[in-house]
Amino acid sequence: MNWPGKIECKLCGQTETTDHIIFQCAVAQFSWCVCRDILEWPFPPTSLNDLREIAREGSNRQIKNILFLFGCVAWSLWLIRNYLVFNNLVVFSQKWKILSKEKEQLWINMVTQKLKLRLSSLRSEDDQSA
Ligand SMILES: [Zn+2]
Repeated sequence: MNWPGKIECKLCGQTETTDHIIFQCAVAQFSWCVCRDILEWPFPPTSLNDLREIAREGSNRQIKNILFLFGCVAWSLWLIRNYLVFNNLVVFSQKWKILSKEKEQLWINMVTQKLKLRLSSLRSEDDQSA
């Protein structure tokens, strides 16, 4: 590893790996538990392999939605982690809006809209198959 900084997660102190940042740290686990509850997954993923296991039973459309969701969650966690590591601040929605109002808010709105559309299509797909 060529990272000159600390190898411990700045949030919880455990060794920081890709799986830790995206799946296992407290913030990540909270995010994935919300996804599990909303989408009625059998468990929250703690690794990419877990996410593959969850997606395995889905239709092609559900798999695409899970990949999209993964992109949104992973990117958000990465930005939160970087803001903490490089600026020594925890970013929550209020701070986030202050950061760079127009650009970030536009992006958040776009992702939120797309996510709502995807979630509603997931739900209607589940209704049809039930
Ligand atoms: Zn951590």
